[in-house]
Amino acid sequence: MNRIPVSPLLKDLARVFADAGHSVYLVGGAVRDMHLYRQVGDWDVATDAPPDRVMALFKRVIPTGIAHGTVTIHFKGESVECTTFRTEAGYSDGRRPDEVRYAATIEEDLSRRDFTMNAVAVSLPDGAVIDPFGGREDIRRGLIRTVGNPAERFAEDGLRPLRAVRFSAQLGFDIHQETLEAIRPALGVTALVAKERVRDELSKLLLSPLPSRGLRNMEETGLLALLMEELASCRGIEQKGLHKFDVLDHLLLACDAAPESSLELRLAALLHDVGKPETRETDEFGLYTFHRHEIASERIAESLLNRLRFPTKTVKTVCHLISQHMFHYEPSWTDAAVRRFIVRVGEEHIGPLFDLRLADGWAISGVRGEPVHLAEFRDRIAAVTAMDHAFSLKDLAVNGRDLAAEGIPPGPLTGKILQELLEAVLDDPGLNERERLLEIAGALRDRIDSLGKRAGGA
Ligand code: ATP
Ligand code: MG
Repeated sequence: MNRIPVSPLLKDLARVFADAGHSVYLVGGAVRDMHLYRQVGDWDVATDAPPDRVMALFKRVIPTGIAHGTVTIHFKGESVECTTFRTEAGYSDGRRPDEVRYAATIEEDLSRRDFTMNAVAVSLPDGAVIDPFGGREDIRRGLIRTVGNPAERFAEDGLRPLRAVRFSAQLGFDIHQETLEAIRPALGVTALVAKERVRDELSKLLLSPLPSRGLRNMEETGLLALLMEELASCRGIEQKGLHKFDVLDHLLLACDAAPESSLELRLAALLHDVGKPETRETDEFGLYTFHRHEIASERIAESLLNRLRFPTKTVKTVCHLISQHMFHYEPSWTDAAVRRFIVRVGEEHIGPLFDLRLADGWAISGVRGEPVHLAEFRDRIAAVTAMDHAFSLKDLAVNGRDLAAEGIPPGPLTGKILQELLEAVLDDPGLNERERLLEIAGALRDRIDSLGKRAGGA
């Protein structure tokens, strides 16, 4: 296929360039994804027109990366990233070129791109394919291979190895042997990459169909030990008992099994047992125990995620899920005990926590399925939640102002009494009525008063 069909929108865009005497090509991920029959994420084009010329040609253009020759064109409801042909020279910091030089031809521009699969261009509007590095053949074979010498390309830019492992997970591709082997000697360059960019690549990797594929490539090349040493050191930690796998394989499987749509769950699954190496002990039967490993895992996950600059909310949610993942249920539990569990975990975290537990269970045995007691617990939570319920102070039929009207002055006493009322309502939801709660509040105040007087008199 030396020519591919071009959409009317791109044809119209190309006409604007052609009328001004310029050429324009579709490049990057869009070309790759079209060859894979995948949904195209974003449109990138390359042109010989300098950025200021592009800005003059279209009504709505935003100079999003003008230092690199990139502007974003808003055209007929789509946004298109447009970069002037470039070569890149002198990467003294391993992160970005010291200067950007514009190139004369598309071939020269393609030669500075990272991987052969990303170095295919489609001429617009005619659809002719320009493929100087065999990118289409590599796409067909599912191979990630650098354009040119991998050692040189990784020495120029330490982000590229991370892009390679991310693409391996996203696309299910293999990394070509020479490219793979060039990653380890360049780890020193990858160590210089800003943590935010590492985080972004890792997030894309984790949100792919099979993150373990990318993570195993990270392990093999030393990227895992460089960036997530806590996880790398779970290799070889055997577990015995019901567990079929060592801790790292267990975590990788759990990560695959967690829902693809949630970064928080993928992170929680990946890190939920990361505290096992430091808590492992051998019991009297020669089996391993991992006493309170969820607390160690929570602490380690927090430091790892903060180091990689994940947003505070993400860190908090992931750590909370990890800290609760060992939850336990008995069919003999009363409804009050079920309500206390919901309060401890938080209503909004219940669904994700069960998803995490399912992924965990799957990764213990390698067999998918919901254990009977877990299904029963889920049903009981649903039943209790469906009742008229109060799970937090704001769900109570009274508030601090109501207590003040009854002569309980605002202050620490109010908070204490409201907490006691919530406890009472968790035991018996029928108490959650204004009059009954005020009655209990009055009695509580009297009791606290008399306790205070006795303590004062003694
Ligand atoms: P996606 O957008 O699906 O993540 P993509 O391949 O389009 O994948 P972008 O980050 O949008 O990735 O980059 C667009 C193109 O720019 C890439 O296809 C590649 O040709 C080039 N490119 C991006 N980053 C680099 C890099 N670090 N080194 C060399 N070329 C790069
Ligand atoms: Mg892109």
